[in-house]
Amino acid sequence: MRYDVIIIGAGPGGIFTAYELIQQKKELKIAVFEAGHALEKRHCPIDGEKIKSCVRCASCSIMSGFGGAGAFSDGKYNITNDFGGTLYEYVGKKQAIELMKYVDEINMKYGGEGTKLYTTAGSGFKKLCLQNKLNLLDASVRHLGTDINYVVLENLYALLKDQIDFYFDTPVKTVEALEEGYRVVCEREAYECGKCVVSVGRSGSKWMEKVCGEMDIKTKSNRVDIGVRVEIPAVIFSHLTDELYESKIVYRTEKFEDRVRTFCMNPHGIVVNENTNGIVTVNGHSYESADKQTDNTNFALLVAKHFSEPFKDSNGYGESIAKLSNMLGGGVIVQRFGDLVRGRRSNAKRIEEGLVEPTLAATPGDLSLVLPKRILDGIIEMIYALDKIAPGTANDDTLLYGVEVKFYNMEVEIDEHLETKHKGLYIIGDGSGVTHSLSHASASGVYVARDIAGKA
Ligand SMILES: Cc1cc2nc3c(=O)[nH]c(=O)nc-3n(C[C@H](O)[C@H](O)[C@H](O)COP(=O)(O)OP(=O)(O)OC[C@H]3O[C@@H](n4cnc5c(N)ncnc54)[C@H](O)[C@@H]3O)c2cc1C
Repeated sequence: MRYDVIIIGAGPGGIFTAYELIQQKKELKIAVFEAGHALEKRHCPIDGEKIKSCVRCASCSIMSGFGGAGAFSDGKYNITNDFGGTLYEYVGKKQAIELMKYVDEINMKYGGEGTKLYTTAGSGFKKLCLQNKLNLLDASVRHLGTDINYVVLENLYALLKDQIDFYFDTPVKTVEALEEGYRVVCEREAYECGKCVVSVGRSGSKWMEKVCGEMDIKTKSNRVDIGVRVEIPAVIFSHLTDELYESKIVYRTEKFEDRVRTFCMNPHGIVVNENTNGIVTVNGHSYESADKQTDNTNFALLVAKHFSEPFKDSNGYGESIAKLSNMLGGGVIVQRFGDLVRGRRSNAKRIEEGLVEPTLAATPGDLSLVLPKRILDGIIEMIYALDKIAPGTANDDTLLYGVEVKFYNMEVEIDEHLETKHKGLYIIGDGSGVTHSLSHASASGVYVARDIAGKA
């Protein structure tokens, strides 16, 4: 079977490549190969009652399947060059923003209409943050919410499925360069194509590394972000979240001058497990509809760890720390802030008596046995700094879940077309190491589709 274009991975990067290709060149014969399930078959077995923690499914429905890692995410599309990836380094700042705005328009057209676009522009919080040694980054954020995000994906799939061949539960094993085009090898069959777009996200990071090795594509990896997810009563942050929804705040620690940042803020949200290659870490999301909202807000506090020579395996470092928490807690560990600063582990009784009702059933424990001192000190310093702009953040009952690890895919060598040294082989989205967000990954898909359509 030969296609004009094969897309590997049906996350936001792959979906927006497919969408834009059929807008630009309807006649192209296109296939999408996806390791995970179709959208309606994606179910995480954790129900909070019978199954309380990750059972390590062969294909993790949180990370894989139509919609990619973004399917059950909070659906926060940040329109900014300040974070979420470095797509602008390849396509220019202006075009990067235009592409993200275009993605937003499509999301609005396919079910997102009526959702709120928040912006930091003109907000008084910038000053308040600076007065307390905190830097509030500039962005506009469209919050679809987990429920509307799902509707948008359903609608996009309904549009794409009649014009594109989708192969679900079909992980691609290898990609081989032919004299003209590529052979994409799956377990049972192989398919050929003129152009191949690889968009395998974080869950495909190990596979991507293997393919780059086989095809002699240069890569580099030197960063991992490690930290905790903070859960507090929503009212403590409501003055910020009501106006900005998500505030990306950066703090420079006094002790080590490390940068600690807030990440993925979910007002009235829930804390969830995340399974990356069998390692259970923590994440969070929230729903748009009021009946699914909780009384808590959660966000991550992350410290970026950059390594220099000779160490190259930054993800391996993050994995080892996450494995340690899995070893001690059987999964994610939860600790009250008061217990952490007093140097004692949390137990079920103290958590139950606390003011914050946990939204994730995690094992009460001691994060100081897991996180390196430097990282933990940075997190504690930032919690006290945040307490100045949102009093109550440093309360004893504030819950910290660990560990949260943000793995960065190694950066793949691609040019300004997001094309590898093999002509017609593109690597986009989080799998390329260039993007780390829904908006940037989607924008990279649109960009590549236009490039392909222009050449086809
Ligand atoms: C719980 C959670 C919440 C998040 N919330 C947000 C948020 O609110 N805002 C935000 O900007 N970002 C968020 N993110 C990150 C965001 O989801 C990712 O940045 C985005 O999905 C990246 O898109 P992508 O298409 O590059 O990769 P992915 O979405 O990871 O998609 C890649 C797809 O490729 C498939 N695949 C992998 N290997 C193969 C293979 N060998 N063959 C075939 N298919 C393969 C995978 O199964 C997957 O479906 C969240 C992530 C998680 C896990």
